Amino acid sequence: MYTQCPLCDTQYRISAAELKAALGKVRCAHCQSVFNALSHLTDTPPEIPHPHGKCYRACG
Ligand SMILES: [Zn+2]
Repeated sequence: MYTQCPLCDTQYRISAAELKAALGKVRCAHCQSVFNALSHLTDTPPEIPHPHGKCYRACG
């Protein structure tokens, strides 16, 4: 699965173990913002654009 920075839309691959270890909190390596990865999970790999563009928040 993947998570996506809500500020700069950079996607990161993340495992369930990593999520658990970090309690969902991750820091974006691009813009340094800390966000809850659990709130921004996606199954869409970064190299395959989401079919609906940036509506991942709404349609999951
Ligand atoms: Zn970011």
